[in-house]
Formats: sequence, C-alpha cells, structure tokens
Amino acid sequence: MRDVTELSRAFGVNAEWGEGGKFPRFFEHVCGKRILVLADPNTRPLGEELICALAANGCSVGELVYPESEPVADERTVERAVRRAEGSDYLLAVGAGTLNDIAKYAGFLLKKPSGVFATAPSMDGYTSGVTPLIEGGAKVTRPAQVASDVLMDADVLAAAPSLMRGAGVGDVLAKHCALADWRISVSITGEGYNAEAAALMQEAVTRCEVAVPALAAGRREGVGPLMDALLVSGYAMVMAGNSRPASGAEHHMSHFLEMDYLRRGLPIPLHGVKVGLGTLVSLYLYRRACTLPRLEGYECVRREAERLPTVEHAEGILRSLSCPVRFSEIGISEEAMREMLRRAYLIRDRFTILALYCSVGAIEEVMDEVVERFY
Ligand SMILES: [Zn+2]
Repeated sequence: MRDVTELSRAFGVNAEWGEGGKFPRFFEHVCGKRILVLADPNTRPLGEELICALAANGCSVGELVYPESEPVADERTVERAVRRAEGSDYLLAVGAGTLNDIAKYAGFLLKKPSGVFATAPSMDGYTSGVTPLIEGGAKVTRPAQVASDVLMDADVLAAAPSLMRGAGVGDVLAKHCALADWRISVSITGEGYNAEAAALMQEAVTRCEVAVPALAAGRREGVGPLMDALLVSGYAMVMAGNSRPASGAEHHMSHFLEMDYLRRGLPIPLHGVKVGLGTLVSLYLYRRACTLPRLEGYECVRREAERLPTVEHAEGILRSLSCPVRFSEIGISEEAMREMLRRAYLIRDRFTILALYCSVGAIEEVMDEVVERFY
C-alpha cells in the first residue's frame, strides 16, 4: 500500500507521528503563531507535553477546555470556539471525534487552519471535509475543512479506552459493507464507480484487520494500521467525490438511531459503536439474500455476499475490543430497532442492501430473525 504519510501530503494533510509531544514538521509551520488549543477534562492531560513543546517552539498558546467531560458539537460549543479563536492563527483540537469536529468547523467559519492531536483512533472524521453537528436538536452535516495536521503518538493512541479503539475498528469494518453497497448500486442502478478509491479503501481495511489482536491487547503496533485506515477513508471519499467508499446502509442505521437518542435527550453512543452494529446487520442481510426467494436473480448481491466476511468474524473482532454486538446493549428499544430496519434507508437517496430489501418488500420477511439475532 502507498505510504499514508506520503498520500496525506498529496491531499494537503501533514499526518505526523511523534512522541513526547514532539512533532518537528508541525512545529516548523506553526512556529511564531498564536494557537488556540481545544480540549476537554479527559483529553487535556494528554496534550500537556505537546502544549509545553509548542510554547518552547515559539508559539503562543491559548486554551479552551470545555468543562463537560463529553462535549457535544453543537451551536453552543462551536460558538465558544469561534469567539475564543478570533485572536488566534490556528485551532488545535486535543481529542477525537467531537473536538476535531468543533475545531474543523470553527476554523472553517473563521477561515483559519485547524489540526488535531488525536487522542483516540475512534472514527474516520480526521481527514473528512464535512462535519456532523447538532443544530436545533437535530443532526446535520455541514461543510468544513480538512484538518491541516493530524498529530499522532502511538503510546497515546494505544492507551485509549478499548471501546474507543473498538469504535475505530467498527468504522473500518463498515467499509466492507459500504464498498459492497456501492458495487450493487453500480450493477442495479448504474451509479458511477471509482475503482482506485475502492481499492485503496479495501487494502487499508485488510491491513487494519490484521492488526486487531495487537489493538485488542492495547499494543502500540496495532494503532498504525488502524489510523492509516481511518485517514485513508477521508482520502478515498475525496477521490470518489462522495462518501460511497466509507459509508453505506450501516451508517444510515447509525444516523437513524442517533435521531432516536436526540429525541429522547440521551447521550449518543460512539459513532463507530453504532456503525459496528449496523455492519453486523448489513453482513447478515447480504448472506441471507442468497437464500431468500424474493431476492433471487440479484447476482451482484450474491457475488458480494461471497466476498464479504461472515457475521461471526466481524462479531468476534468487535467483541475482542469490548464493543457491543447487540442493539439492546446500547439502550435502544426493540421497536426503535424495527423502525430502523424499515426506515433507515430513507435517510439518504443512496442505494444499499437495506434499500434493496425495503424496495422489494423483503425486510418484513427477515425482520423477526434479524431482531432475534441482533437485539
Ligand atoms: Zn463512519
């Protein structure tokens, strides 16, 4: 596979591995600048060495540490970042999903570069050019900028909680189904395909899976292939011109559930955790399609089913990283899961295995068995 640091450079991203807060390439281009660090009480201590090193390298460093231990990327947190960053030249998130989203979006609004010191390999938004936000209590996706710098320390990433490493792997396993959904859409609806983007994504997924035992044991050699896959996901999307290489029915299921949490005013479980569960359902639907008379004749689906990993394989991986493998484990009602199976495909006008089941009326035929297997 192409070296991901080199590949990142081609996409304008400095993806830099360092230790003890030392990132020479990053320091070179922020030297003398005013940097605003965004963190929360959990991530701030992890950024200590980096913050000291920035000051020692001629930067003036301001800090915005959100008081909540799990801030949400919404109007309020973005507004705080924008207000504090007005006198800064660069926004640096010390965190993962949410803090990276806030920094990317606030930087985009202020037309100032942003970057992230990644504290967990938990999702693929580091190199994505859009950002999910909560506005008026609803989830929306806004254009944002890609992080200019993604700073990674293998010791910090390997020490992230097992569930966060698992969430990252869940978001990577999802690519198997996302790519399969893309290809069946090419066959069934005539949608365009980008073989180079798909191959790049697939290769990164395969390499990441090899690293699962090391990740499960919290060893540092596991985090390289996982971070590579999470970064490549963003580049594959840029190459494809859409999110097809990274997101299919399993992401639609995750988004559908998110709205349920928002309606109930409950904290939303990690993106990759929900996506991992959606991936298990998608894998099951592909396999099951081969024996369902209503889906006879869809050769492309059968072809994909044969190349996809088994549900048991994916389940074993998620379980080894302390991730839930049943929807009842994440506080969703059985009814919400049924609604998800019936309606998640409506979230986006995009053909997937779930859209196929729903459009031919096959979802009710498998509803009870899917709920029994995964609720
Ligand atoms: Zn994702």
